Amino acid sequence: MPDPILDSLNDAQREAVLHGEGPLLVLAGAGSGKTRVIVHRVAQLVLRQGVMPWHVLCVTFTNKAAGEMRERLESLLGPSAGQLWVSTFHAFGARFLRREAAAAGLDPSFPIYDTDDQLRLVKQLMGELKLPEGEPVTARDVLSCLDRWKNDALRPGEVRVGDLDVERQAARTVYARYEQALKRAGAADFGDLLMRPLHLLEEDAGVRARWAGRFRHVLVDEFQDTNHAQVRLVRLLLGPKRNVCVVGDDDQAIYRWRGADVSNILDFDREYEGARVVKLEQNYRSTRPILDAAHAVIAKAHRRRDKKLWTAQEGGAPLALVVGQDEHDEAERIARAVEVAHAQGAAWDAVAVLYRTNAQSRPVEAALRARRIPYVVVRGTSFYERAEVKDAAAYLRLALTPRSDLDLLRVVNRPARGVGERSVERLAAFAQDRGQALFDALAEVDGIPELTPRARKALGEFRALVAGLHERVGELDAGLAVQEVLTRSAMIDRLKEEGTDEAVERAENLMELLAAAREFDEAQAGRPEARGAEDADEPTPPPLARFLEQIALLGDADAPTPEGRVALMTLHAAKGLEFDAVVLTGLEEGVLPYRRPWRRPESADASLADDDEERRLCYVGMTRARRLLTLSLARRRMTYGESGPTFHQQEPSRFLGDLPPELFGLPTLAAPAPAPVRAAPPRIRRLPGALEGEPVIELDGEDGFSAPAPPSAPRAGERGRLAPPRGEPHVEYDADEQRGLA
Ligand code: ATP
Ligand code: MG
Repeated sequence: MPDPILDSLNDAQREAVLHGEGPLLVLAGAGSGKTRVIVHRVAQLVLRQGVMPWHVLCVTFTNKAAGEMRERLESLLGPSAGQLWVSTFHAFGARFLRREAAAAGLDPSFPIYDTDDQLRLVKQLMGELKLPEGEPVTARDVLSCLDRWKNDALRPGEVRVGDLDVERQAARTVYARYEQALKRAGAADFGDLLMRPLHLLEEDAGVRARWAGRFRHVLVDEFQDTNHAQVRLVRLLLGPKRNVCVVGDDDQAIYRWRGADVSNILDFDREYEGARVVKLEQNYRSTRPILDAAHAVIAKAHRRRDKKLWTAQEGGAPLALVVGQDEHDEAERIARAVEVAHAQGAAWDAVAVLYRTNAQSRPVEAALRARRIPYVVVRGTSFYERAEVKDAAAYLRLALTPRSDLDLLRVVNRPARGVGERSVERLAAFAQDRGQALFDALAEVDGIPELTPRARKALGEFRALVAGLHERVGELDAGLAVQEVLTRSAMIDRLKEEGTDEAVERAENLMELLAAAREFDEAQAGRPEARGAEDADEPTPPPLARFLEQIALLGDADAPTPEGRVALMTLHAAKGLEFDAVVLTGLEEGVLPYRRPWRRPESADASLADDDEERRLCYVGMTRARRLLTLSLARRRMTYGESGPTFHQQEPSRFLGDLPPELFGLPTLAAPAPAPVRAAPPRIRRLPGALEGEPVIELDGEDGFSAPAPPSAPRAGERGRLAPPRGEPHVEYDADEQRGLA
């Protein structure tokens, strides 16, 4: 009888899936089936071991990864998969806090402040504390300290700061006030979603009794990128049997800058004595040239545990390298590489263009648009970052939690109702004197001195509006609640009255938000929240609160990717995903590896660690590819500084130098270079004086970068030939056909 759970696993994977009780670590390289182990292990536990689905908690890194995991689980488990707890750490924390709202001193529909909200709050507090924003400390500096501390689960009183550290001293001062402000607003920020459950579990015996051991099994993907708060949280959730299964790859640790600590995975077997350790070595994702390239890059990291992956796949296309004169020309060539991949059988949505920083996407987008290649920029937050959408979200949060000052300040005069800055200042001063939330102060609007009659009236009406919404929205579905808010606040009507193109676009965006809320309701109807017997009498937060939570938790990586489109995303966002064809862009010093212009490494050690992290990012990017990997770079690149645009001559990335030329299907170093072939990748050969084992890339001309680039694409009517990939069918195309493909 075929066994859907165990048949498609190799011996090591099966060992991990069948492991009984107690801690388990799967430490293995990219594409070796770690995520598959998690999914199949859950299926095994639920279908064969009789574990109830709501007793299983699976945590991954991005919402998208969680979504994919859920889909894979649904196909193995059927509908009961809906009762598993599958989420990111932050989404888990939010759900935990909603259920423990009373213990946390929050309302179950508490608002979650995103980075933008946090920054506004920090700026406001810096103003109140008379800390000049900018020199020597910016609000961003302060916020990044706060985030770090929260990731280490440190409260204001627990933070230790050196006497001379101006930045962190300022941050500490702000931190205490910031926490008070959140408390007054009844809000949580991102870091709270981890820190507060952690503190509750550590300090509140009632909460601990409800949660510790409630999950019979906890499984964590991408464990190399966990921070201290996360590992502590996992530990607190475990029962006496310590059934925890973590999987990860130390070579893919790319979130050190956000407080992740790779020693969490490297020291796992010390932390959890008696843990079983399983290593996977067979890669099922990529062809050999891709694996060899990825290995050549990662092998040079200063600190790593050596491991090598093998593949049973024979052959595989060589890597391609494209070089643009500048970023626009690079983008042109990227677009062409995408078309080539498509012509070679990759569906549009099986192709990804990866970059180090978001800013790199713009020229690529333009080039793809020009060729009518369908694409999507995978950047979860961009839609929700639009001003009008943020306004609407602020209204919605205020409707749920009128005490949320930050939200009130945002919309008190939106749409314009005659409440000027001065009036707001007076209101704020009045509330501050009495230690009140702004909304409460509005109840006494007649007592606020120096308000114009017009402002007084407008503020009174605004309060009535918010109070009215507050009464209604708790009972409505998310869609209806959004509709109610958009109508009653007159946001849409005002935009319609305005009637400009821009206003129409904004109104459309608001309608899009409404559509998203309705979709959310539909999805919820089909997927009840996991509830075991122990959850029977717990309050469920209103649908609107859960919809807003979903928006707030959209990270960088989390836009749903529509089918049929090429995905453009950062390397960080690409983690855990796979594509037939990948274009890894900007392989230049300063871009990948990225150098932050303003940051000075604290020590030589820190600088090595930064280098290693960039190397790991490059490794993550390369290992996303199944069949085709294209690397691209530009010779010159423009950056916009304070003094306007400047051109920089770019040096090829050191990571390119680590790749043996054979991987590009080029002759080995000693052989003479072949005659140039149109549209073939640039030649690579070793220059005199290059160190042994360090191929230097030379492009076409004697002096490398000054020669004209090879023709970028065949002109209309011209026939072009692609360098035939080894083991792949030879593709010939002409420019018109090629355009027709889009
Ligand atoms: P990453 O480190 O990038 O997260 P991973 O180790 O989690 O990778 P998976 O995503 O689980 O790897 O698997 C990589 C690919 O290999 C997937 O397409 C998966 O379906 C396939 N795969 C994994 N194990 C096997 C197997 N035993 N037989 C066939 N295919 C497999
Ligand atoms: Mg994985």
